Amino acid sequence: MKEHYLAVIKFPMFVSLSLIILSIIYFSLALVSYHSLGLSPMETLLFTLLFILLTVLVSTWILILMSTHQKIKPSGLRLYTKWMLFNIYFYLAQWLGKVFMQKKGIMQESFLNFNNEIILSNFSGIHSKNILLLLPHCLQKSECKIRITNDIIECAECGACDIAKVKGIMSKYDVRAAVATGGSLARKLIQDSRPDVIIAVACHRDLTDGLRDSWRFPVYAVLNDRPNGPCFETKVSVSTIEFAIKKFI
Ligand code: SF4
Repeated sequence: MKEHYLAVIKFPMFVSLSLIILSIIYFSLALVSYHSLGLSPMETLLFTLLFILLTVLVSTWILILMSTHQKIKPSGLRLYTKWMLFNIYFYLAQWLGKVFMQKKGIMQESFLNFNNEIILSNFSGIHSKNILLLLPHCLQKSECKIRITNDIIECAECGACDIAKVKGIMSKYDVRAAVATGGSLARKLIQDSRPDVIIAVACHRDLTDGLRDSWRFPVYAVLNDRPNGPCFETKVSVSTIEFAIKKFI
């Protein structure tokens, strides 16, 4: 339980810590320069610009933290905070994670959980038909005679893999579901159907890459279990998918 909690808060903790470190470096440098020779006009300009940058970084981060509990209404501001999350804070946390020798997978999981919190608080009242459930091909039983390429409706529901359970959820809530065999197909499916919300199932790496590729789209990430090793007959918690659908509709 403690490990799970740490895995969830690690990403926001590392971003906050990196901002504190940057602020300490900035104020120490400014203080040392001021006390030694005073500041030249060029240095004053440089420190002013750095101060503005630091203020923007800290205030945007506070806004992002708030968005895990409260909806950001202006869509432009929402897009800006998402861009900052995926293109600035993600790298800040990764940088500090490397300094503290953190496992990549745990940081990625924490990032995905943090993003999920934001998606849940910012998207609700969605029509079920506008929710797209994206599944990895490795969920399917390797010996299955049915070739499920795109639409999981073909599944005969024999129960040998989790596709049958997901099909049940799909019919129960009337959401769309598709199997993506790779990143480019997933992107094409998203571009073609333009859903309001995507619930994507995959491993740490694919989800992190996929989310960063499609950062403009609201993607709720569900990690798959890999009892048979990577990319082979994986499993998914159907209750987690159901929980997300219930929150969105
Ligand atoms: S549940 Fe569906 S996809 Fe899975 S093995 Fe059975 S028929 Fe194939």
